[in-house]
Amino acid sequence: MTTKFEHGPNWKEREQTNLIVIHSSLTPATRDDGIEYLRSRHMRQGCIEVGYHFVIRRNGVIEQGRPLHATGSHCGDRDFDSIGICMIGGGDNKHKAKGPDYTSAQMRTLAYVCLTLIRIYPEAEVVGHNRTTPSTRCPVFNVADWWVELSLNLKTLNHAEHPYNFPLK
Ligand SMILES: [Zn+2]
Repeated sequence: MTTKFEHGPNWKEREQTNLIVIHSSLTPATRDDGIEYLRSRHMRQGCIEVGYHFVIRRNGVIEQGRPLHATGSHCGDRDFDSIGICMIGGGDNKHKAKGPDYTSAQMRTLAYVCLTLIRIYPEAEVVGHNRTTPSTRCPVFNVADWWVELSLNLKTLNHAEHPYNFPLK
């Protein structure tokens, strides 16, 4: 007998992917939070699952939230055409934006994830949450500058050296 949730919720498919939105958990850099923490935070707010598609832990390990094809719940009226990635850190113990304190392992994983997603969705643009919602400081770093810098330094990223497999589902 199969249980109701054995195959997860029936996700609403995303029909377009125009934005890859980077977020911050706004948690202290000293805390090793991950997807379990964000899942319970979002579910307490009434979500059926964590709102992001990917979470990048302090050690650079990537965790998958919603399936890639599913509509997320992370940036309001742009949920319908975006993928959400959350970086752990960036905040103080009151969940206020503090500053860009991400580890180099996290930034490297973020680069690989974004470059992989751009290959799948070539028309998508990589932006920070503060692009779609100017009132927020999330993700607490300048995504536009980072992306330009990354594009100029692609040669330094050697995919074979990356220790984590990108979990596409
Ligand atoms: Zn955000």
